[in-house]
Amino acid sequence: MKKRIAIVGYGGQGAWHASWAQKSDVLELAGIYDIREIRMEAARALGIHTYDGGLAEILADKTVDIVLCATPNDVHHDIVCDSLRAGKHVVCEKPVALSVGEFDDMCRAAKESGMCFTVHQNRRWDVDFLGIRSIIRSGEIGEVLNIESHIHGSRGIPSDWRCHKPQGGGMVLDWGVHLIDQMLQLIPEKIVNVSCELFHITNDEVDDGFHLHLVFESGKRACVEVGTYNFLPLPRFYMQCKEGTALIEDWQKKCRIAKLTAWCEKDVTPVQNAAGITKTMAPRDELTLDFYEIDRPTSDVHDFYRNFVRAIDGEEEMLIKQEEVRRVLLVMEACFLSGESHKTLEVSI
Ligand code: NAD
Repeated sequence: MKKRIAIVGYGGQGAWHASWAQKSDVLELAGIYDIREIRMEAARALGIHTYDGGLAEILADKTVDIVLCATPNDVHHDIVCDSLRAGKHVVCEKPVALSVGEFDDMCRAAKESGMCFTVHQNRRWDVDFLGIRSIIRSGEIGEVLNIESHIHGSRGIPSDWRCHKPQGGGMVLDWGVHLIDQMLQLIPEKIVNVSCELFHITNDEVDDGFHLHLVFESGKRACVEVGTYNFLPLPRFYMQCKEGTALIEDWQKKCRIAKLTAWCEKDVTPVQNAAGITKTMAPRDELTLDFYEIDRPTSDVHDFYRNFVRAIDGEEEMLIKQEEVRRVLLVMEACFLSGESHKTLEVSI
């Protein structure tokens, strides 16, 4: 049977969830609540039920199984805790909390009430991420040495709550949370080193981009970069492995692979590059490489809710686990500490 979901916060993302819930095979949209009347009117205009009595009315509605929290980041905590304590299952938008301490409160409320609680880390369904993950899992280009994940825009940071620190603005919290979560899935090892540079090109109050370096226990490295002042973007993913390199130019493109078939070349002829000659940087003999593309995997973000509903029914383990979310929050806290102190941190995360 479908689960009934009520949405708190009917802005951009709340409306996205509402339209997905209406198409879902596992959810039924019970209604929405937003503190702004203009957003309540927008929902009513689409025939969506509005809870005029606010969160209290949602929590008192016995037909509601799940509360989805899609408000700005600073008001997630109370909505999530109150909903769990009222006996609702909860999905919260990312970043779930502004600190690990806030998140621990939420997990405690979930444990004490026995309700299911997860976070909408929907970018685990991104096909570029899934493509890179499938290459790592297949081992076709060997062990990972380094992964770079970049997202570059060119409009600065949006001028809404995202540009205010107390509301949980800034790009570490907005996009970093997705890319760090993906990276920890790709390299499932302890992090020993965090170094982060925060950018303030268009905004003094919050970071409008950042450059993060992670070193893992085995020596694998990762770079996560988000920029909002990049008029030419770097590739979405670049991965060096022991037996090849993988590259995804952008969200729409297939993954290109250059797989090493032989390390040694015969004679390398120096090439003239710019104002000098080089043998080290001369192109490889193409006979030592195999070039190919891999098809983009398929994915269906409805699987997020299918999994959550099955987890509520005790049929499946939750895909987005609380301990994984907590680790991402720890990394983000380390990003701020490193960025503000201009220091590389030795950690054990
Ligand atoms: P938004 O500003 O468009 O919408 C937020 C809405 O919440 C507004 O309409 C506001 O009036 C309402 N609101 C504020 N306080 C409230 C309260 N106490 N009770 C009820 N309503 C309240 O912001 P958005 O872009 O929709 O972002 C909302 C959340 O979704 C954020 O946490 C954001 O990070 C997240 N988000 C996630 C994704 C994703 O891909 N997972 C994408 C965008 C946004």
